[in-house]
Amino acid sequence: MPTIAAGPEIERLIQLLALLPGLGPRSARRAALFLIKKRELLMAPLASALQAAMEKIEICRVCGNIDTQNPCAVCTDARREPSMIVVVADVADLWALERARALNARYHVLGGTLSPLDGVGPDDLTIDALVKRAHDPAVKEIILALNATVDGQSTAHYITDLLHDAEVKVTRLAHGVPVGGELDYLDEGTLAAAIRSRTPF
Ligand SMILES: [Zn+2]
Repeated sequence: MPTIAAGPEIERLIQLLALLPGLGPRSARRAALFLIKKRELLMAPLASALQAAMEKIEICRVCGNIDTQNPCAVCTDARREPSMIVVVADVADLWALERARALNARYHVLGGTLSPLDGVGPDDLTIDALVKRAHDPAVKEIILALNATVDGQSTAHYITDLLHDAEVKVTRLAHGVPVGGELDYLDEGTLAAAIRSRTPF
């Protein structure tokens, strides 16, 4: 048993912070100490922001995005292209694509990828809802923006098979040399995929 140097409330705070992604016990202790030192400036606003977010968050009933309104701000944005749906595994991927400002489309959040080893099957994801949305005559293209991992790609194949009778074009992200990337530093898989998906100059 480690010696407890702080009161149970502080220990509890450290234990909870240690559950956050990227934080282990050591960085959780540092974060807790930082918060305690900035009680007025940071800890109080953080506590009320957590409380407010907790009360307001909703899962969009159309696309699965997280927002404080339902349907979410993306689904209700009339300036977005209704004919394109970008399929992502997680809300973090949606946020990443939005930060890149690459397209002005709608989204569909699957809630993960198929993973037989972890016991994630089609019923654990929002695949049925996606197939329904794909049959809306307004939808022309489904863009599969899934991870270039075995699970991501098998999920992409599974969805593509299900969409064969929907009148939509199914596309996926290109795999290749990252912007600013040097060939010498790429792994063989990325380099091979980049050669296979070469484009005219
Ligand atoms: Zn939505």
